Amino acid sequence: QLAEWRKLVGEPTVSSDGHRVELAANIGSPKDVKAALANGAEGVGLFRTEFLYMDKTELPSEEEQFEAYKAVLEGMKDKPVIIRTLDIGGDKELPYLSLPKELNPFLGFRAIRLCLDRTDIFRTQLRALLRASTYGKLRIMFPMVATLDEFRKAKAIFLEEKEKLQAEGVPVSDSIQLGIMVEIPSTAVLADLFAKEVDFFSIGTNDLIQYTMAADRMNERVSYLYQPYHPSILRLVKRVIDAAHNEGKWAGMCGEMAGDEKAIPLLVGLGLDEFSMSATSILKARALIKKLSKADMEQLAEKALNAATTDEVLQLVRESLN
Ligand code: PEP
Ligand code: MG
Repeated sequence: QLAEWRKLVGEPTVSSDGHRVELAANIGSPKDVKAALANGAEGVGLFRTEFLYMDKTELPSEEEQFEAYKAVLEGMKDKPVIIRTLDIGGDKELPYLSLPKELNPFLGFRAIRLCLDRTDIFRTQLRALLRASTYGKLRIMFPMVATLDEFRKAKAIFLEEKEKLQAEGVPVSDSIQLGIMVEIPSTAVLADLFAKEVDFFSIGTNDLIQYTMAADRMNERVSYLYQPYHPSILRLVKRVIDAAHNEGKWAGMCGEMAGDEKAIPLLVGLGLDEFSMSATSILKARALIKKLSKADMEQLAEKALNAATTDEVLQLVRESLN
């Protein structure tokens, strides 16, 4: 099987009835680019930039970040690269920021919330990204966006830094797409309004599931509630994809669900445009999608959306694959 998958490295990802999707890799450092390409990634769908901040005793400089982003963009050649701005907080701590302990870190001061408060940290990262933008096809996304206001503020800061750099004579790309992660239910619910303002969505199911089901993703006693195929999750995912398409935008997914064999038929049926997963899952996913008919998966998705339980959904998926 491995040998069969290997043949798919340079192939596009197309369903049996000719529908094309994009399979991208989740990476955590420039070192991961090699494996992404070797496994047939058509882009990077999520570069978690946290490692640049976590492996240190102080904030990374603009220069250091610029070098890392440039390395990833150059490494991926002209394939799209989505770099996520800092998502610290929750389970990821930065001791040197000495943030106060919180009772509910996953509901606390993290990601874009922290960046909009510590704009010094945010601006440094955006400048590094803007400077690197001429070395490839850069897309930027903001994590944990809960309100339109947060997106607008983040975008305004981005545009300010862009103008400053241009005034300094630094070349920056004019075609950087700006998107958001959809990982908070409020944003999935208002996706139609977000879709008018963002360039793309990337659904972060790891968090979206935990927040929708109110089940901490690290707590084993409630892990039975962590159900990617639950109809409530599928309905939110559909809402986000439809909202994007209605505005001529695209929707991807970078949570674990995107690489899950049982979820992929449903996601193809729901019309997901881009699937970002760990590099080692890409070829297997491509082999699977080549065997699926988009038309059949649309019917599957339609039924799954009207199911009442996870078990019913899984039963429908099994039947559709026979
Ligand atoms: C997610 O929440 O699905 C996601 C991709 O982000 P992270 O796992 O880094 O929180
Ligand atoms: Mg997340």
